[in-house]
Amino acid sequence: MGIEILKGDITKQHVDAIVNAANSSLLGGGGVDGAIHRAGGPAILAECQDLRRSHYGKGLPTGQAVATTAGRLDAHWVIHTVGPVYSPGEDRGELLASCYRESLAVADSLGADSIAFPAVSAGVYGWPAASAAAIAVAAVRAAETNVADIRFVLFNDEVYTAFERALG
Ligand code: ADP
Repeated sequence: MGIEILKGDITKQHVDAIVNAANSSLLGGGGVDGAIHRAGGPAILAECQDLRRSHYGKGLPTGQAVATTAGRLDAHWVIHTVGPVYSPGEDRGELLASCYRESLAVADSLGADSIAFPAVSAGVYGWPAASAAAIAVAAVRAAETNVADIRFVLFNDEVYTAFERALG
């Protein structure tokens, strides 16, 4: 397994699977979610709506992951995962780690060889960058996965630096 970090826009990545930091509605949002739906086009939202009608009537629970088409993105799949909202009073780190584990499990089930992750929960959901990065890197390192190429694609300098430190 190779882990690398890149600075940039995850929607520009050419990988088998692009991970989306979705919200549990699966019906779109801001941040990386909005960027993925804009760049990937309406086919992604259509499959998300199907998922809401079928398996996820109440939405996708926090810490879980599910795949759809990647639409016009240069990837085979988008894997949607729902990060926890940061809480200073409650340790939700296990749920954040679960996002990475479950996304890799979905990627394995699809036969994906390469995956790009954003910094789940490190935007609107308020997770401090250093902690979000440490949890992400530890979760991916501990995962038993056949995905050979794992990339973290970080959108801003602060989060990029945090991942650089976490990787060591
Ligand atoms: P969350 O609600 O899980 O916090 P956000 O989308 O608000 O999700 O933020 C998660 C991270 O994704 C943040 O670090 C944000 O800067 C980053 N981000 C936003 N747009 C993009 C993009 N196009 N590519 C990669 N990362 C992005």
